[in-house]
Amino acid sequence: MVNFEDTATAFITKSNSQLKKAYYMFKLVANPGLVKFGKKASAFSLSLGLPIKGLVKSTVYDQFVGGENILECDSTIDQLNEHNVKCLLDYSIEGKVKEEDFENTKNILIKTIQYGKNKEAIPFTVFKVTGLARFALLEKVSANKALNSSEEKEWFRVQKRVEQICQTAFNVDLAVLIDAEESWIQNAIDGLAENMIRKFNEEKVVIYNTLQMYRKDRLDYLKIQVEEANKIGYHLGVKLVRGAYMEKERERAAKNNVDSPIQETKPDTDQDYDAGVNHIVNHLRLGALVAGTHNEESCKKLVQAMLDRGLAKNDERVWFSQLFGMSDNLSFNLAKEGYNVVKYLPFGPVKETLPYLIRRAEENTAAAGQTSRELDLIKKEMSRRGL
Ligand SMILES: Cc1cc2nc3c(=O)[nH]c(=O)nc-3n(C[C@H](O)[C@H](O)[C@H](O)COP(=O)(O)OP(=O)(O)OC[C@H]3O[C@@H](n4cnc5c(N)ncnc54)[C@H](O)[C@@H]3O)c2cc1C
Repeated sequence: MVNFEDTATAFITKSNSQLKKAYYMFKLVANPGLVKFGKKASAFSLSLGLPIKGLVKSTVYDQFVGGENILECDSTIDQLNEHNVKCLLDYSIEGKVKEEDFENTKNILIKTIQYGKNKEAIPFTVFKVTGLARFALLEKVSANKALNSSEEKEWFRVQKRVEQICQTAFNVDLAVLIDAEESWIQNAIDGLAENMIRKFNEEKVVIYNTLQMYRKDRLDYLKIQVEEANKIGYHLGVKLVRGAYMEKERERAAKNNVDSPIQETKPDTDQDYDAGVNHIVNHLRLGALVAGTHNEESCKKLVQAMLDRGLAKNDERVWFSQLFGMSDNLSFNLAKEGYNVVKYLPFGPVKETLPYLIRRAEENTAAAGQTSRELDLIKKEMSRRGL
């Protein structure tokens, strides 16, 4: 079994001063009140053009983001690769509304894919459909509402952008992960992803859709997808996550007085996550899995499932994935044992990465529980180094 307590391996890329800095950063975000205040204050200050960029950059940004552009990520990519941890460049842009912004994002995504061409250190790329399309349009498509003629054209442009990105990745032989987002726009995202999977996954998995197992309906959806892929004969790529929008989902359901799409309890989510992992591992003949999780138990269960089925540790159809700056004890120890590991490495200007950084800070507050684990591991390593 993999030793996830091996902190020397987990923090092998961190100097003593970087380790101390990470300690203070996690201590800072452990305070929910401070994170709440930071969320409001940072957005407000940046919108006013106040000089807080340096502060954001030297704290959360440095911990969770690779750089302002692709080239700035280079040294991090090399450093991770030295320890067999691969990465995917995540152009972290959200909440845009203008067509020119969507085109610009598409062009950057295409450049990112071309940058990854023939680089063993970068086996995947990723994108969010909300970086390429208006949220309200995705909502309308998801609800199956009739589009007017200008919206029809707009939707056609979205489909073209997605196809251009996937086609470029197919041409340079790089896999593409399509992130999952809010449930009320997910039907549109699923539709796009399913079309791309059918088009580009004939010979092998190039395109992966993401399934959030905190949704009550995703295990059934997964089973249908697996069945379809087997029946028609294309390869199914699935990234499994638990889901990042729980509070928002519950608030919306309560406001609209409808049943929440989210599981009632955490154990329900955990159960479906693990069942989903097993279902894919049992149907790998025409499929592939990226397990996007910081949950140690889920990683252990996937390791065990691979062992039980006699899969090689580095079977190219199974990947573990974590976010840059989080759960290095999982990533580096799995990679050391020979498993496939890929880290999401976000990049982008400080202002544009703010929504991503706020989500990371919120996820790492004491309330969310992940911080104490990160802090314990950092403290253990600091004491091992005598710091
Ligand atoms: C590589 C990677 C890619 C990701 N991509 C996406 C993506 O495309 N879309 C997306 O939405 N998220 C994505 N995430 C985030 C992910 O969905 C989770 O929010 C995050 O990873 C925490 O879940 P966990 O499996 O790491 O572990 P844990 O810390 O064990 O689980 C926390 C998660 O459990 C669920 N949960 C917590 N409390 C409850 C409760 N009371 N009832 C029901 N469920 C509960 C929530 O989903 C919560 O985020 C990604 C994460 C990683 C590591």
